[in-house]
Amino acid sequence: MQPIGLLIEFKDGRVKEANFGMATAARADNRQLVALVVDAPVDDARKALQAYGVTRIVDIRTESGRWDPATHAAAVMAAMRKQGITTLIGLTTPTGRELLPRIAARLDAPLVMDCIDIDLEGHRAKTSQYSGKTIATIALSGSHCIYGLRANVVTALKTPAVAEVIDFAFAAERDSGFEVVETRSDGGGSQYLAEADIIISGGRGLKNAENFKLLFDCARHLNAAVGASRVAVDNGWVPYAMQVGQTGVKVNPKVYMAVGISGSIQHFAGMKTAKMIIAINTDANAAIMSNCDYYAVGDLFEILPALEKALATLKN
Ligand SMILES: Cc1cc2nc3c(=O)[nH]c(=O)nc-3n(C[C@H](O)[C@H](O)[C@H](O)COP(=O)(O)OP(=O)(O)OC[C@H]3O[C@@H](n4cnc5c(N)ncnc54)[C@H](O)[C@@H]3O)c2cc1C
Repeated sequence: MQPIGLLIEFKDGRVKEANFGMATAARADNRQLVALVVDAPVDDARKALQAYGVTRIVDIRTESGRWDPATHAAAVMAAMRKQGITTLIGLTTPTGRELLPRIAARLDAPLVMDCIDIDLEGHRAKTSQYSGKTIATIALSGSHCIYGLRANVVTALKTPAVAEVIDFAFAAERDSGFEVVETRSDGGGSQYLAEADIIISGGRGLKNAENFKLLFDCARHLNAAVGASRVAVDNGWVPYAMQVGQTGVKVNPKVYMAVGISGSIQHFAGMKTAKMIIAINTDANAAIMSNCDYYAVGDLFEILPALEKALATLKN
């Protein structure tokens, strides 16, 4: 049986946690798992990924060693050809959104992004539609199948294996025409929302941009990411990258805290699959209060400083 390719992502030189859930999802089919690692520290990748059943790591090296989506996509395709990989799974993250559609387009392969479930044997993927009201099952057909898995939808389960490392040097035939001129932070905290285990989001109740500091202060103690409702984004308090919901990022954290957020259908569409939802709101009848696991009825300007203090004490 042909192996499954996993497009591995890194953050600060380490394999991102979300890759482990992806490896677990791919393992369901019992085929060999081949991790494709582009211009990244392969030793760390081997140690981390073999714990999740990966038995081969392809250490892809491009000539420049710099991020360039066109060259990286071409390098991944070349490695797939060499390894006989016709099924590729990546994450629906900013990097995955750059690479997977390029690879699919060049292979003329079907692509499903933001999958919440993948059936590799049946070539089917599930995605959420219409603000999460329905789940579509999409059948793929073609010589190659490409999937972008939503981060954190599959719980990572270990199954120790021993992975070999295969060197793969890639020299592009022509200049890709890309050059990264500048890299800027979006201000959305240190974590990409969709991959965070804990998210603290703020809405209109925060009243202005400065008050988001209250959320960042709590988030720091919990290694959490900070999100927002659309109102907070539309008011210019925080960047769009922080918006959770139907027209923002869809998230699946272990804990989602909604602070000063009423819980509109559109906000819910982006966070309702969180394992635990906690709400802080002055209005006991806000929609979020009947759709969460725990709530506190009260003023966020009193609760957040007290929470921050308690978290700091706990940490110490
Ligand atoms: C097509 C479409 C797409 C949309 N996409 C999205 C999306 O992706 N994401 C999204 O979030 N929205 C989206 N919206 C907007 C959505 O309908 C709501 O308007 C929005 O989610 C409301 O944001 P909010 O909860 O911050 O504000 P509000 O609904 O105004 O709620 C504010 C809450 O804060 C509470 N509050 C006020 N003061 C305090 C205090 N001191 N302490 C504690 N609580 C307090 C209030 O009781 C209230 O419940 C979309 C709308 C449309 C039409």
